[in-house]
Amino acid sequence: MKKVFCIGELLIDFVAENQGKNLSVAKEFTKKAGGAPANVACAISKLEGKSVFVGCVGDDPFGDFLLNILEENKVDTSMAQKSEVFTTLAFVSIDEDGERDFVFSRGADKELKYDSSLKKDFKNNMVHFGAATAMLGGNLEEAYSRYFFDALTKDSFISFDPNYREDLWKNKEEAFIKKCMPFIQKSHLGKFSLEEARLLTGKREMDEACAFLHDTGVAIIVVTLGKEGTLLSTKHFRKTIPSIEVTPVDTTGAGDAFIGCMLKQISEHDSLETLLESEEELTQIVSKANKAGAITTTNFGAIESLPTQKQLDF
Ligand code: ATP
Repeated sequence: MKKVFCIGELLIDFVAENQGKNLSVAKEFTKKAGGAPANVACAISKLEGKSVFVGCVGDDPFGDFLLNILEENKVDTSMAQKSEVFTTLAFVSIDEDGERDFVFSRGADKELKYDSSLKKDFKNNMVHFGAATAMLGGNLEEAYSRYFFDALTKDSFISFDPNYREDLWKNKEEAFIKKCMPFIQKSHLGKFSLEEARLLTGKREMDEACAFLHDTGVAIIVVTLGKEGTLLSTKHFRKTIPSIEVTPVDTTGAGDAFIGCMLKQISEHDSLETLLESEEELTQIVSKANKAGAITTTNFGAIESLPTQKQLDF
């Protein structure tokens, strides 16, 4: 089984206690671990895969809290870094439909420094880039592009999730697209929401968007469609794979559970070529990943709601 290196942010989500209230009126908050790449790392290890988290927290009690959670979930944290800068904090409220409203106080996550000792470990393994705040500059963006270069030169399987957040990129969409393009061009797997696929390609229709993305270079495209399931596209076929029916209470982490479950299954494969040839196998992988995403929506929080292998097989 290959290792999956998940690079990017790990932060505290202070989640408003009164569901359905917005942040300006919320009074009580619960401390939770957050950050898309960290969620993906946990999703993989909860499914008995091998994940390594590469990111930075503050040298403070909140940083310890976060690393402990990853360790409890059996994520390898030996490559995680600590900084003098305080751990990144986000304040989140969840509305009646399970959708999130949030503000950030960015701290240690952007301090991640490039570590050349990782390069050799990328060989024959997988690297997942969950962009989110990484494109906003600082050491993290620099480290990101160097790790990306290493992944390319070491023939790693590269996975990319742009994790677009409108509030972070308002009026700077062009810059976001420009920063994402090199990753999209070289990734084997690209995970997009409908909004991201449209934004990044400038195409409204998914047939056109997928054709554009394949021409750019991505071999496997998945466009997550919430309760409608996932659009799966390769150069050979394109189809929507339905999800299972659930009653969602909080959609946080569904996308991370989905991509984590895909990566775990791909990590058990020897060759990308064989995988790409097999429509049946890819369909099964996405179908299972849909189930992982769906299960995650049935509980509050991200990491604690991620399914175990037993739940997924049930
Ligand atoms: P995020 O907002 O976490 O970045 P995303 O928008 O990429 O995530 P979603 O489309 O919300 O992800 O969910 C990922 C996958 O989980 C979907 O493709 C689907 O298979 C499954 N899923 C999500 N919500 C539901 C739901 N309400 N019912 C059934 N399946 C769901």
